[in-house]
Amino acid sequence: MPKHADSFVTEIASRSEDFSRWYLDVVRRAELADYSPVKGCMVIRPYGYAIWELLQQALDSRIKATGHVNAYFPLFIPDSLLLKEADHVEGFSPQVAYVTHAGGEELEEKLVVRPTSEAIIGTMYANWVHSWRDLPILINQWANVVRWEKKTYPFLRTTEFLWQEGHTAHETEAEAEEETLKILDLYTDVCESELAMPVVKGRKTESEKFAGALRTYSIEALMGDGRALQAGTSHNLGQNFAKAFDIKFQARDTSMQHVWGTSWGVTTRLVGGMIMVHGDDSGLVLPPRVAPYQVVVVPIGRENWRETVLPTAKELQDRLRAAGIRVTLDERDERPGWKFAEWELRGVPLRVEIGPKDIEKSAVLVARRDTREKQSIPMDGLPARLIDLLTAVQRELFDRARNFRDQHTHRTSSYEEFKQIMEGRPGFVIAPWCGQAGCEAQIKTDTQATIRNMPLVGASPSGACVRDNAPAVVEAWFAKAY
Ligand SMILES: [Zn+2]
Repeated sequence: MPKHADSFVTEIASRSEDFSRWYLDVVRRAELADYSPVKGCMVIRPYGYAIWELLQQALDSRIKATGHVNAYFPLFIPDSLLLKEADHVEGFSPQVAYVTHAGGEELEEKLVVRPTSEAIIGTMYANWVHSWRDLPILINQWANVVRWEKKTYPFLRTTEFLWQEGHTAHETEAEAEEETLKILDLYTDVCESELAMPVVKGRKTESEKFAGALRTYSIEALMGDGRALQAGTSHNLGQNFAKAFDIKFQARDTSMQHVWGTSWGVTTRLVGGMIMVHGDDSGLVLPPRVAPYQVVVVPIGRENWRETVLPTAKELQDRLRAAGIRVTLDERDERPGWKFAEWELRGVPLRVEIGPKDIEKSAVLVARRDTREKQSIPMDGLPARLIDLLTAVQRELFDRARNFRDQHTHRTSSYEEFKQIMEGRPGFVIAPWCGQAGCEAQIKTDTQATIRNMPLVGASPSGACVRDNAPAVVEAWFAKAY
């Protein structure tokens, strides 16, 4: 008997009792990621990386379908370039890592390990853009970046992480704004249709916007513990970086003008968000569209199952694979019960059990990971039935997450009620706000809650700010955030 045996799943902390511990246990036990010898950096293990790859493909195809192309810029940025945009350098300097020595010598100019790439990309765009005919530039890059973090958490906040960063340059402010919002919609679509993770779209406040941007927009998701996660951001950079990096073009009226820029990114933290939205006490629950294995086939039987059951199970695997289903067959020498628990832990959406009796009946037993419902399905026509089930699982996971989000979204104009809600497992609170940064900061001090974002559309509220009774200018979405 292998030593892991039955104790495997019970080693995960209870999700309702200790959400944070549960998350770390799931990440490690499901072999998504591991700690590394470098503090704050994580190793993404093959199972976790496969999820990221599926997400990456879903993003990449949409980024290309909207007219963008991929390129690659260097990891190192000369320090002098980062210094060119004042807000940008101020925003990032606490998190920047430098290379000071290389090739056995001290470098004349230290190099920044990119925390983001506006500086190096802006420098190149200044060389590439001359006329309005060169615009727009619509470039995306897949890369790693480094931001030195004091407190790290696998996937959600790590010192080095993977992401895509889009950087575009346009003739007019209106075009840049259109691009910024187009990408916000693209991110919303990926989160909701691939990760089954509902998000709230909106604009960031001045104090929460990207360092150097004119306006930042975000999508925010609600995790299972009632905290919000910023799942993606899209920035209208205005002409700030164009002026700092001298990106100029001859306009249609022959005047020289600065380009209007955008930048936007989503990261490996989306994997963490997806875990926190859907998982349960038994481990991961993966939405089928990003599940490395959508179906696991588990042969059932006595000692001779390798002779009696395995050949049919293999045939079944081939049929499912031919139908485009990502499937694995677990033929290890373990008890079926142990295998069930292991694949539940790993969040595989559907389990197909096949034993001698099933073969006699020419049927299999199919178990859903999300609802644990079991049903017997005839072998004949099985691939189509499983594809339908996977579609249903994907949709129902989204519906469940959206219901949870809606149940944990409160509306109040009373600060007492606001503070009460923010204790425990809070959720979103929609409340009128006066628009003053000092007020926003005081709310954070009082409750730890921050303004996640403000709606893109909607009338200004007529009432008073939830905290200080000053005239409200907006209904903001507040939450405690990761
Ligand atoms: Zn106020």
